Amino acid sequence: LPILVHLFLYFQKAAPTAQPTFLLVGPSGGGKTALLTLAERKTVIPTHTSTAPLAIEAVLPEDFTPSTAHYRSPGDPSYERARRFLLLDTPGHGKLRHFATTQLTNPTNVRGIIFVVDAASVAEEAGLNEAAEYLHDVLLALQKRYTGATTSKGPKEIPVLIAANKLDLFTALPPHLVKLSLEKAISEVRKSRAKGLKDSGVALGGEDDGLDEEREWLGEGGEGAFEFRQMEEVGTGVTVMGGNVLGGDGTDVKGWWEWVAEHL
Ligand code: GDP
Repeated sequence: LPILVHLFLYFQKAAPTAQPTFLLVGPSGGGKTALLTLAERKTVIPTHTSTAPLAIEAVLPEDFTPSTAHYRSPGDPSYERARRFLLLDTPGHGKLRHFATTQLTNPTNVRGIIFVVDAASVAEEAGLNEAAEYLHDVLLALQKRYTGATTSKGPKEIPVLIAANKLDLFTALPPHLVKLSLEKAISEVRKSRAKGLKDSGVALGGEDDGLDEEREWLGEGGEGAFEFRQMEEVGTGVTVMGGNVLGGDGTDVKGWWEWVAEHL
């Protein structure tokens, strides 16, 4: 379990100006390892792999330009440097999940979070609920990070990409339905969590109860439906994009790399 702690401490120590990092999260089986392997082929200097098996140094494929490198020319060393980033895998199941969400509130140089989800598994209730619970916790951790910030400026934005993977499967939901299904399921998670808080007796405490409940409520107040759009108020843009890491006709992760380029 403490491997993630070591990993983060390692990066903090070894890299005072930490490399831009993207976290890979999501339920087990979504395709995180497959994506990591794909990105690793583009690796130029795999310096971190021996010490940190969960992190790889990736290089943005040629066809994409990092937002910070638009005015530099190819061949310029700073242009090449600007294409590098770390991809940090987090285990998708069990107690480690909680661990990953805790880390989200204390990132070194996290530019974004990639939530990989199997678009076929969210077509079914069990898969959808698992993904929604996980995503709810990730988003709530980001919201708390934002609302709990002590500086008046607020912390730097951490956007989330929901990578709807396995679109090569004919049972996969199209991305817009992945989005709607997750929003609906997260609305339910939000409701049952709020009820759980009440029932567990948190409400017996004192005058802070309202506050506590508010802090645990994802997105805007009120009973309405949850929408990803609500996360913009707390510094997190959420984008849903489809793709497939594997599949008969090969790989299609263009949209995801574009998103990475935009936030690199
Ligand atoms: P992780 O648990 O999130 O790391 O998921 P893995 O990367 O281990 O992938 C789980 C399974 O899904 C593996 O058998 C992969 O081969 C398969 N898989 C990953 N990406 C795709 C995809 O785009 N299409 C299809 N059809 N299968 C995929």
